Amino acid sequence: MAVGTRNELHEDLRTHVDGEVRFDAGSLAAYAHDSSNYRQPPIGVVVPRTIEAGIEAVAACHAHRVPVLSRGGGTSLAGQCCNEAVVIDWSKYCHRLVSLDPDARRAVVEPGACLDDLNRELSGHRLMVGPRPSTHDTCTIGGMIGNNSCGASAQAYGKMADSVARLEVLTYDGTRMWVGPTSGEAFDQIVAEGGRRAEIYRALRDLVDGSMALIRTRYPDIPRRVSGYNLDALLPERGFDVARALVGSESTLVTVLRAEIELVPVPRRQSLVVLGYDGIVAAADAVPDVAEHEPLALEGMDATLLDLAKEHHLASEDVVRDLPDGAGWLMVRFGGDTAEEADGKARALIDALNTSERSPRCAFVDDPAKEQKLWRVREAGLGATAYPPGDPTPTRAGRTPPSRPACSARTCAGSRS
Ligand SMILES: Cc1cc2nc3c(=O)[nH]c(=O)nc-3n(C[C@H](O)[C@H](O)[C@H](O)COP(=O)(O)OP(=O)(O)OC[C@H]3O[C@@H](n4cnc5c(N)ncnc54)[C@H](O)[C@@H]3O)c2cc1C
Repeated sequence: MAVGTRNELHEDLRTHVDGEVRFDAGSLAAYAHDSSNYRQPPIGVVVPRTIEAGIEAVAACHAHRVPVLSRGGGTSLAGQCCNEAVVIDWSKYCHRLVSLDPDARRAVVEPGACLDDLNRELSGHRLMVGPRPSTHDTCTIGGMIGNNSCGASAQAYGKMADSVARLEVLTYDGTRMWVGPTSGEAFDQIVAEGGRRAEIYRALRDLVDGSMALIRTRYPDIPRRVSGYNLDALLPERGFDVARALVGSESTLVTVLRAEIELVPVPRRQSLVVLGYDGIVAAADAVPDVAEHEPLALEGMDATLLDLAKEHHLASEDVVRDLPDGAGWLMVRFGGDTAEEADGKARALIDALNTSERSPRCAFVDDPAKEQKLWRVREAGLGATAYPPGDPTPTRAGRTPPSRPACSARTCAGSRS
């Protein structure tokens, strides 16, 4: 980018945007990476103090024909937050819970809201956001929408697209609108009003009408599909849902200004079953049988991950002792209004698996602190495998860890929370 244009852009942003406008080398270096292998210094960084300030930043960039890229917690694994663009960091100031309707179980939230902080605010109403990536203490609602995130709780609550009711979005050319499911009547009204919004809706309808058969038949019917644009959300039988079509678009289509999220009740009691198998493949083979029991969360873990977690001091001996014998494990969480209900579901799973020929070793965990520690080991897994201790190679997320000897056999125990 020419120095003159860059300086003019910097000046415009400083003049018009209420926020931190950073073009210094230190800030560019700090924002040159996310949690992936990619490195790309941005053109500049804007940390808006308000949503309106973020809108001003996009307008200034548009005036200079400079790309924009939103950023939340920056925990993306595939370079989603690295680009030659002006990065807008929503996480520092734009993280308010705007409104909450506990009866309808809906909340309107700013994009920079950190998931754990938001869930803490909602906990007084025994409500929470369903999807829960391992990075829940850092990731933001905007980033979860950008990535169509899910996590251990996907089994029960699906992906972020399943939790988004409506979005307030801004296009690069400055069109600001709330989008969501669109009835035929609403569509006709939008088109009748004319303007840019009508153009966009008409173009979306044409896109879907022109490829309807392909979208219906070629989108893979798998629950955790997060690649590509969700054009299937625009099918008539899906309610022409423009919000859900935009979830997962990684800042390439719109900037999300606010999100209306559907919330789920916090289960009063939980129980955890850990199933031990001879290896991770055997554990994976067992997933369909386990999933039939409708757990709240279901995660796999192998011996390599556990060994690396131990080397990183992320898994203490007392936690490891609670795992049943094996070299591959499934962690299965159940919930209920009472301990009896949650435990009953766990016991039903154990009973059902015990009748099969390849029955696993089972541990029923009834100590909440131990259960917490076990989940932390699983959540730390990606970091542990990407950065094996003592390995001099610069390691990154997604790198295949060096092969490790399988874990030795462990003793059984059990727990509940
Ligand atoms: C150790 C580790 C474990 C992980 N585990 C999981 C997991 O269990 N499940 C899972 O799904 N993911 C996981 N991830 C990936 C990542 O943490 C999640 O996808 C997370 O939800 C991203 O949130 P974020 O706030 O960090 O988003 P960011 O990385 O900041 O952004 C994600 C995308 O959203 C876009 N975006 C952000 N804000 C906006 C906005 N206001 N408007 C438009 N676009 C926006 C960004 O441009 C980017 O494309 C993991 C990552 C790591 C490093």
